[in-house]
Amino acid sequence: MFDKMSRAIMLSIAENETVRRLTTKYGMADENSFARRFIAGETLEEGIESTKKLNEEGLTATLDLLGENVTKIEESHAARDVFLNILDQIQKTKVDSNISMKLTQLGLDLGNDICIENVSKVIEKAKSFDNFVRIDMEGSDYTQNTLDVFKHLYEKYPENTGIVLQSYLYRTEFDVRDMNNLGARVRLCKGAYREPEIVAFQNKKMVDLNYTRCAELLITEGNYPGIATHDEAIIDHIKAFVEEKSISKDKFEFQMLYGIRRDLQDQLVKEGYNMRIYVPFGTEWFPYYSRRLGERIGNVLFILKNMYRESTDGKDTI
Ligand SMILES: Cc1cc2nc3c(=O)[nH]c(=O)nc-3n(C[C@H](O)[C@H](O)[C@H](O)COP(=O)(O)OP(=O)(O)OC[C@H]3O[C@@H](n4cnc5c(N)ncnc54)[C@H](O)[C@@H]3O)c2cc1C
Repeated sequence: MFDKMSRAIMLSIAENETVRRLTTKYGMADENSFARRFIAGETLEEGIESTKKLNEEGLTATLDLLGENVTKIEESHAARDVFLNILDQIQKTKVDSNISMKLTQLGLDLGNDICIENVSKVIEKAKSFDNFVRIDMEGSDYTQNTLDVFKHLYEKYPENTGIVLQSYLYRTEFDVRDMNNLGARVRLCKGAYREPEIVAFQNKKMVDLNYTRCAELLITEGNYPGIATHDEAIIDHIKAFVEEKSISKDKFEFQMLYGIRRDLQDQLVKEGYNMRIYVPFGTEWFPYYSRRLGERIGNVLFILKNMYRESTDGKDTI
């Protein structure tokens, strides 16, 4: 109950209109602005630069052009073209990165056909470079459709595309088994959206239990899963689990978000685990940033403090 309430409060603050207005105004204003903690920058060059630095420290990346829920076909084409360019730049600069994309950014709200056409072009190019496209998972209204589109694409490009599943959804253990049967690569996360009780666990303990159960299934029966979490207890559990089952460290990878638990990222690399960082960039960063705020009370307090300082300096009002 407390989990549900505190998360709802944090998400409400994060979604508040004044918070949105002031955050977008000040969050990326200069190189020290507060949103840069979670966002690599507004340009692809900044995304590539951050990826280079991560690579130098032994971490791989997945580059994400921020954006979601486009309403015009031209916007979906523009996003597709940026993703094609990201793949070109990864190839050209030789950074070690794949890409992550949201289907609503590629036109899912305009129809599956439009979306499939856009995403196919991107995966086709990824294939030509022997690279990989991860399809992020969005809110539960999109879960089934995202999986339907993914399965369609997976039939044609099994080596070059993978999906994300969220342990807060009741259905996820079923989806994990389904993806394991297909041999599809899965990134497992807890889930970042505000979901109703009818589809999702509301209690952290249940989300975490479902996470470890699904992660074990993916590691033992799946295809090179991405264990995407910053939760140290879960990470310790997975480390003990693979040790006990004599599963080699190259059978899976840990994944974390840019700017979160950098200490733990480095420690896992030193211990010999594969570690991939999700590197978001672009001008449409507020919804992503707002979800990060909603995950931790400290983040909300941090931003309120920063905004108060910036707004009183700049004579704005909260
Ligand atoms: C690589 C990657 C890809 C993802 N892709 C998706 C996706 O496609 N769809 C989706 O719904 N979600 C996605 N997520 C987000 C995910 O669902 C969670 O919302 C997020 O990772 C927080 O959950 P957690 O597993 O870290 O556990 P939590 O229980 O939320 O956090 C555990 C600990 O991690 C640290 N932490 C977590 N979040 C933050 C934060 N914002 N700021 C500071 N510290 C923090 C804290 O120390 C916290 O105590 C992704 C996450 C990762 C790592």
